[in-house]
Amino acid sequence: MKEFFRTLYGKISLIFFLLLFLLGTAQIIISVQSSMNFVCETDQTLNRYLARNLATKFQPFLKDSLDRAGIDHLIHELMIYNPRIEIYLLDDKGDLLAYFADPYKIQNSHIDTAPIKRFVSNDPDVRFPIMGDDPRSDRQKVFSASAIELPGGNQGYIYVILGSELYDTAINGIGGSYILSTTAFTLVLILVFAGILGSILFFNLTRRLRRMTRAVSDFDKGDYSRRIAVQSDDELGQLSSAFNHMADTVENSIDEMKKNDALRRELIANISHDLRSPLASIQGYLETIQMKEDTMDPGQRRAFLNTILNGVINLNKLVHELFELSKLDALQTKPRPEPFSIAELLQDVVLKFQPQAERKKINLITKIERNLPFVMGDIGMIDRVISNLIDNAIRYTPESGQVKVLLSRRGGQVYLRIEDSGEGIPREDLPHIFDRFYRVEKSRSKNSGGSGLGLAIVKKILDAHGVNIEVQSEPGKGARFTFCLDVWQPQKREKTAKDIS
Ligand code: ADP
Repeated sequence: MKEFFRTLYGKISLIFFLLLFLLGTAQIIISVQSSMNFVCETDQTLNRYLARNLATKFQPFLKDSLDRAGIDHLIHELMIYNPRIEIYLLDDKGDLLAYFADPYKIQNSHIDTAPIKRFVSNDPDVRFPIMGDDPRSDRQKVFSASAIELPGGNQGYIYVILGSELYDTAINGIGGSYILSTTAFTLVLILVFAGILGSILFFNLTRRLRRMTRAVSDFDKGDYSRRIAVQSDDELGQLSSAFNHMADTVENSIDEMKKNDALRRELIANISHDLRSPLASIQGYLETIQMKEDTMDPGQRRAFLNTILNGVINLNKLVHELFELSKLDALQTKPRPEPFSIAELLQDVVLKFQPQAERKKINLITKIERNLPFVMGDIGMIDRVISNLIDNAIRYTPESGQVKVLLSRRGGQVYLRIEDSGEGIPREDLPHIFDRFYRVEKSRSKNSGGSGLGLAIVKKILDAHGVNIEVQSEPGKGARFTFCLDVWQPQKREKTAKDIS
């Protein structure tokens, strides 16, 4: 039971029942009070002129002196006919002059005359019931009153308490209990019906909360696919939607984290492999030189040292590319676009690769459209992209082959295409060549000195520029890489020297 009242359902039900009980009790008090008020008001209105009529009957006994015996007799007679009333004769200060009752029953021999004066004033603003002092008790009661002339010419009052002691006992015993029992019965009925209805409604309302709690706890235990069915648009419905949205975000982040973790492991494995093999071969050559220091002829020594140097150069390139890629990943290197001449940049890069092409007797051809406009981009990064693509084209093209670099304008863009007559890329490898460490054929790339990072860097840089790169290739027919850059659109007229002066 204690557990039940700890639940939200228990608490809401308890509060509901308490409120119901309080409202019911207030309802009983108010209805009993207003019915009593109504009875008093009716009684006083009906008996408004009762005291005035009695005054005419009393007046003969007040002519010269107070005829107590006569008055007592009259009061006694009147009260036999109408046991509801109690009649008192008061002087103008409110002191009792005559009454019909056992003296020990009289508790107050002085009556406050203010309510009596209000009653006899006949002021239309005076509202009934007016309550006055009851000589027989400490309670306030409704009355009827009238002014009367006392012997000696003084003014006094006939004061009639309506609903006498006898009547009081009767109304308390019958009327009070009737009203009470009716309202109490109604209250019990309301409590039962509202209680049953409320319990069902609150149970339904809190059932949704319980369902949500179960879903959240399942999610907490690792069931990331758990969602809550949204049944309505109310606060609980909104809470469910918010939870589902949050669960989607958390699930996606966890997937992303898992992917990143797998990628990181793969990367570390690749890096350690790529570093270990050249380092092992460098170590081997160095140990051989050390061991055969005296016997080795200079030609052999030079060949060994050249191999070591190439190994170190490749290692250096690998470390440099890794560093570059990680900076691009961490968005530390962001493109700083500026207008530049792509034609000039391309000519410079081609010139840089000319010796490499000549060594392989490769015909490096450049075709640049005339009067090309400036393009927008980070000049250093675009230099890197073109260099990597030309480097690949030369490396993967056999001797006496051909590498063509073309530059042309189409609409608001300048197209750059690098194509070679090399061995090309197999169709199934095409979707992966931009992945880091991906090599079509490991041994082939290793011989060509590749690290598998060149195209990953190209893709990263072009992504950062919002530019797409396309690759077309058929094995044996060479490869063709194409991308385009936006033509620079001068927004404002450049300030001339004349403008400034
Ligand atoms: P690598 O440093 O090994 O050249 P890249 O990222 O530059 O690494 O290229 C990834 C792979 O794509 C290469 O290993 C190679 O197999 C293939 N590739 C890239 N460019 C060409 C090309 N022009 N012709 C043929 N294969 C290419």
